[in-house]
Parts: sequence; structure tokens; C-alpha cells
Amino acid sequence: MAVGVLALQGDFEAHGAVLKRLGAHVREVRVPSDLDQLDGLVLPGGESTTITLGIEREQLAEPLRAFHSSGKPIFGTCAGLIMLDREHLGIIDIRAERNAFGRQVRSFEAPLEMGLDGGPVAAVFIRAPWIAEHGPGVEILAEVEGHGVAAREATVLVVAFHPELSSDDRVHELFLQSVRDARLAAA
Ligand code: GLN
Repeated sequence: MAVGVLALQGDFEAHGAVLKRLGAHVREVRVPSDLDQLDGLVLPGGESTTITLGIEREQLAEPLRAFHSSGKPIFGTCAGLIMLDREHLGIIDIRAERNAFGRQVRSFEAPLEMGLDGGPVAAVFIRAPWIAEHGPGVEILAEVEGHGVAAREATVLVVAFHPELSSDDRVHELFLQSVRDARLAAA
């Protein structure tokens, strides 16, 4: 199983380490041809304006949409959630609100119930977005203060926090399970 991590900016190395620990082959994605033969893709946290500029510079928007249309799972975390929303790549039917938790509470860690076996995940939020609006096909998996912070629509998974910064690998494992399922469905 080969999983790409968009490596234009942000904490792509930490994602790569988790994915390797879970047994995936990992490739850093910087140009469209890096997407060839991948089974899934992670869009990491970072700074969404910088990542947007990188996607424009490398002409990655259409190849990323085509990757999604071909049925390959995509996982966006924090800035990666923003990149996938209606106002950016348009790959999941949500509207993200950037830096939604306000200036005072920019960063925090909270136990978050996502319905995963083993109880709440330890979720690290860093100047995180939340999901301000979503379409009917989107399933909200977790909320903080009444706002969606984890969601899924078909093969797309997004979380507003940083699962790569905790030692709890269950959210990455949830994504890898969808990659395995998509591979089986395509075979
Ligand atoms: N605040 C950042 C942005 O809007 C996202 C923060 C993060 O990815 N940790 O791009």
C-alpha cells in the first residue's frame, strides 16, 4: 500500500513517520507525477495560504481532483482540511472557518470522542479551523463546542486537529482502512 503526503509546506514528515509505523510505503508529493500509482494521499497541517500558493505554483489542483475522482482516499488534517473545502480544492462539501477557535484559545489538547474503539482520541488543536457548513453527504464524526472538527464524505476524511502529533495512531489507521477498502473495491 503506497500513501502520499503532500510535502509543499507543513508537518508532512510527522505524518510520514506515523504512516510508516503502520506499515504503509510513504512518498512525499511535490509535483503532479508524484501522485502516480499512489493508493491514498494525506494533506497535512501547516499554513493554508502557503500551501495554496504551492498548489498553484506546481499546478497540482486538477491532478488532486482527478486523484479524488478516481476513487483514491484522501485525508486532510488542519490546514489540509481547509485545502479540501468548497472554497479551495472543492473535494469535500464543507466550508472551513480558519483559526475558528479565536485568538485567545489558539492551541489546546482535548479528549475527543470520534466513535473509535478504545475511547476518545487525544486531539491536539493548533490554530485550528472548524467546519462552519456542510452538505447532506457529509457525516460529522466529532464536534467541539457544537462545531464539526472531524468529518467524512465517501472516500474523504478530514480532522481539524493534528493526529500525527500524538502517539495515538487510530485516526491514521481509520484512514488506512479506507485505503485498503478502496484498493479491494478497485481490484
Ligand atoms: N491556522 C492555519 C491555517 O489557517 C492552520 C493551522 C494548522 O494547520 N495547524 O492555515
